[in-house]
Amino acid sequence: MDHFNYQAGILHAEDVSIADIAAEVGTPFYVYSTATLERHFKLIDEALSGMDHLVCYAMKAASNQAILRSLAKLGAGMDVVSAGEYARAKAAGVPGERIVFSGVGKTRDEMRLALTGGIRQFNVESEPEMLVLNEVATELGLRAPITIRVNPDVDAKTHAKIATGKSENKFGIPISRARDVYRLAGTLPGLDVIGIDVHIGSQLTQLEPFELAYQKVAELTQVLRADGHDIRRLDLGGGLGIPYARSNEAPPLPSDYGAMVKRVLGGLGCEIEIEPGRLIAGNAGILVSSVIYVKEGEDRKFLIVDAAMNDLIRPAMYDAHHDIVPVVEPAVAAEQEPYDVVGPVCESGDTFAKGRNLVSQSEGDMVAFRSAGAYGAVMSSEYNTRPLIPEVLVNGDQFAVIRPRPTFDEMINRDTIPSWL
Ligand SMILES: *Cc1c(COP(=O)(O)O)cnc(C)c1O
Repeated sequence: MDHFNYQAGILHAEDVSIADIAAEVGTPFYVYSTATLERHFKLIDEALSGMDHLVCYAMKAASNQAILRSLAKLGAGMDVVSAGEYARAKAAGVPGERIVFSGVGKTRDEMRLALTGGIRQFNVESEPEMLVLNEVATELGLRAPITIRVNPDVDAKTHAKIATGKSENKFGIPISRARDVYRLAGTLPGLDVIGIDVHIGSQLTQLEPFELAYQKVAELTQVLRADGHDIRRLDLGGGLGIPYARSNEAPPLPSDYGAMVKRVLGGLGCEIEIEPGRLIAGNAGILVSSVIYVKEGEDRKFLIVDAAMNDLIRPAMYDAHHDIVPVVEPAVAAEQEPYDVVGPVCESGDTFAKGRNLVSQSEGDMVAFRSAGAYGAVMSSEYNTRPLIPEVLVNGDQFAVIRPRPTFDEMINRDTIPSWL
């Protein structure tokens, strides 16, 4: 459920008309709903109630500080994957003890930044990383709290580019080697081994792969405890999918996920951490774009819009589907026709949808790409020297620009031309 609905014939974000925002900031732009962000956070938080737990929002999904602060105010922690994200979370007011550091390639500088600034835990993904973290922490006279990310070799049954829990993926250590790696970790004075981490992929639409992975984590918890490790925190990663198309089967409910977690892991007396990103932000944002031209092809109509693959790369990168809706509500009986919806970028991959049925469109009409809140703005680029598009946050009947569109000068002046030219 989200808060993007028609009111008086115009698409609204909560109580704000999309047409009003467009009039002020121009298209294209992203707009997020605070009520949807909050609703999704609370749903997943409540799904784990009764267990000692912390929801650490995977901020790579949508990392604007206004979004981070909205969630932090509800008690969210953050899952970060770079020094930049760590600094951004801090800037948004998230204390270090609620920040978890994930990722396969943490550098010494990143470790130092997080250790000195405060960190809840590092999710360590390899032995070399573990040895380096031990060195860095020891140099600083600190002990780094760690979990070790295990790769359970479970098929997440999702798009290959976002599956992370099979042995061929670069993530984590093979679960079969976990005892050896934990034994080594236990001997390193700069590390405090507190738990286990697992994250098998993104946009999972079934509970079964999670359950298979969590069962392996439950078994490993017992084995490692018997080996003398004080396993007290289980980080279960993110990955719960969202409905991208109204017509599709809905992914599992957060409450069903929570019940499964309790059933599989509730008896272990561990603190539970989860790292949802898409689940919280995905349906809390839309991308609004204007029609530039309707172009008649040989056998099809192209709807050329002012947003492009540099603004929303998911269709080009993951063959992702986004529902596209007109900003002006169509009449109930309005006829639809198929369009290839494309952007202005000079690549055929700059195609949002093929043969998509929409009510008749003309120049200047606005459309909204739904479910664009996660892995949308954060993955955008300035390809074709197109400015990063604005982000807007709505709360009830108010809205604010939370990232302005840069001017051409701001973009262009980042280049420096060497003196020899
Ligand atoms: C990407 C990622 C997440 C978030 O995944 P979602 O599918 O957005 O919930 C969580 N944890 C880790 C380690 C990740 O890499």
